[in-house]
Amino acid sequence: MSQHSLTDQHGLTNPPANIPQSTNSLPSSSSNVIRNFIGGQFINEEYINEWIVNKNPATNEVISYVPCSKEETIQKAVDASVQCWKSKSWRGLSEEDRAKYLDLIADQIEKRIDEFALAESRDTGKPITLAKNMDVARAVSNFRFFAQAVRQQSTKAHLMSNKTINYTTRRPAGIVGIIVPWNLPIYLLSWKVAPALACGNCVIAKSSELTPMTAHLLAEVIEQVKLPSGAFNLVHGYGKDCGSAIVAHPKINVITFTGGTATGRVVSQMAAKHFKKVSLELGGKNPMVVFGDYDVTKAAELAARSGFLNQGQICLCTSRIIVHESIHDEFVEKLKQLLEKNTKIGNPLENTTTFGTQISEEHLIKIDYYAQLAKLEGGTIVTGGKRAELQDESVKNGAFYTPTIITGLDFKSRTATEEIFGPVVTVHKFSTEEQALEMANHVEYGLCAVVLTNNLSIGHRFSDELESGIVWVNTWLLRDLRTPFGGMKQSGVGREGGDYSLEFYSEDKNICINL
Ligand code: NAD
Repeated sequence: MSQHSLTDQHGLTNPPANIPQSTNSLPSSSSNVIRNFIGGQFINEEYINEWIVNKNPATNEVISYVPCSKEETIQKAVDASVQCWKSKSWRGLSEEDRAKYLDLIADQIEKRIDEFALAESRDTGKPITLAKNMDVARAVSNFRFFAQAVRQQSTKAHLMSNKTINYTTRRPAGIVGIIVPWNLPIYLLSWKVAPALACGNCVIAKSSELTPMTAHLLAEVIEQVKLPSGAFNLVHGYGKDCGSAIVAHPKINVITFTGGTATGRVVSQMAAKHFKKVSLELGGKNPMVVFGDYDVTKAAELAARSGFLNQGQICLCTSRIIVHESIHDEFVEKLKQLLEKNTKIGNPLENTTTFGTQISEEHLIKIDYYAQLAKLEGGTIVTGGKRAELQDESVKNGAFYTPTIITGLDFKSRTATEEIFGPVVTVHKFSTEEQALEMANHVEYGLCAVVLTNNLSIGHRFSDELESGIVWVNTWLLRDLRTPFGGMKQSGVGREGGDYSLEFYSEDKNICINL
C-alpha cells in the first residue's frame, strides 16, 4: 500500500512523498541522459542501471534521465578529490589564482544566462524571468562575490610582550560534501560551491533529484574553464542512497546541507559519527508582523511578494502574517485583491507569467492537504485553496496551485505551525506587542522574520526578541552577501555568508613562535 492511500487523524489522505520515479531501461533514442562529473570529466558508469525520470512540472514532459548514483560513484568522486588534494593542484594555488577561476566561472554562466534560465524554469516550473533575474543572476554574483572575498581575506597576528608571536592561518578544510534542495537549485548550489572552492577545498556536490539541470550546466562550465580535475565533482541521485553516501563517507570531512528539517536531522546524526564539520540550513515557517502604524497598502504589497514569490517555495517566504487588529480586515482585503488581480499564473516560459507551478504534483497534493486541514481546524479560505485551472493546452496538466489566504486559525494550529512550503499564508490578529511576539516565536522554526512598523524603537526592540536568524524591518529579501545567513531553533545550525562562509570552509590554525 502506498503512503498516499493512508489517512491521518483528521481522515484526510496523507500527501505522497515528493520523490520522482525511476526507470531501469532508457529509451533507445534518449539523448537527454545526464552523466556524473568526476575528476574533470563527464563519466560513463557501466554499473549504473537505474535512472531518475526528470519531468517538467508544467508540462509533464521528460527533460532528462538522471543517474541513480550510489556508493561506488561517491567512492570515485572521493578518489578524484583525494588525488586533487594530494597533488595540491587546486589548494596549492594562490588566492588570486583561485579567484580568477571563480571569475571565469561567473563570466561563463553570465554568457549562457538564457540557457541556464531556460533549464531552471523547465526543471522547476518557476517563471523564466524569475529564473533569469533572480536565480541565475545570483549564481553569477555568488562566484564574483567569493572571488573578491577570498582576495581580500586577511590573517591575524597576536604579539605577546614582543617575545612571542601568534599568527593565525586559514587552510582549506578538506573535501566538502554539498547537498542542496530543489527550490533554488543553482542559486543555492553556487552559494556553497563558490566559497568552498575559493577556500581551496575539493567539492563533491549533489543537486536535488527533482532539479539536476542547472547543476549539470555548471559542471559543463567548470569543464570548459578547465578547473584542476577533482576540485569540483557533481553526482546525481536520490537522497537516500546518493546523499547519504556523501554524508557517510569518512573522507568527506565537511558537510553543508540545505533542505528539510527532518532530513537535516538524519544528516546531522550521520555526520556526527565522524565528527564532521556541518552546516545545516533547514526549514522555516517565517512570520511577518504588521504593526497598526504601518501603511496597510504597502504591507499588503510586501506580503504579496514575500508570501508568494517562486510560488511560495523560498525558505525565506513569510507564511504566517500577524497583523494588528486595527488594520487586520483591511489588510486581508487588500492582499486578496492584489493576489487575485496581479498574479499571472501561466506557462512559466512566457515572459508575462509571474506565477508558475509547484515543483511537482506530489508537492501540490501536500499543499492542498493543508488547505483542507485548515478548514477542519476552523479556518476560512479567503482566496485560493485549490488547483489553478489553466486554458493553455500545453500546460493544462501542470502542477499549478492558486495563491491562498487563510484566516481565523488558532496560531497554534497545525496549518499555522507546520511548514507547507507553498503559496499559502495564514493571517492572525494581535492586539498587544506581547501577543505578537508570542505568536511570532511560537513555532519550532527560526529562519527569518519581517517586521513592519514606522516606529523604529518598536522595530528594534521587537527584532531583538524574535527567535530568528534574520530579521527584515520594512523590507524583505534584501540580501547583502557579507551578512550571516542561517536559522535558529530547528531552522538550522551555523551561519554562512561573507566571512562566515570563508571561516566555515577553512580550518583556522594558530602558530605560536617564541622569538
Ligand atoms: P529535502 O530535505 O527532501 O532534500 C534536500 C536534499 O537532501 C536533496 O538533494 C535530497 O536528495 C537530499 N537528501 C534527502 N535525503 C537525504 C539523506 N538521507 N541523506 C543525505 N541527503 C539526503 O528537502 P527538499 O524537499 O528538497 O527542499 C525543501 C526544504 O528545503 C524545505 O524544508 C525548505 O524550507 C528547505 N530550504 C531551506 C533553506 C535554508 O536556507 N534554510 C533554503 C532552501 C530550502
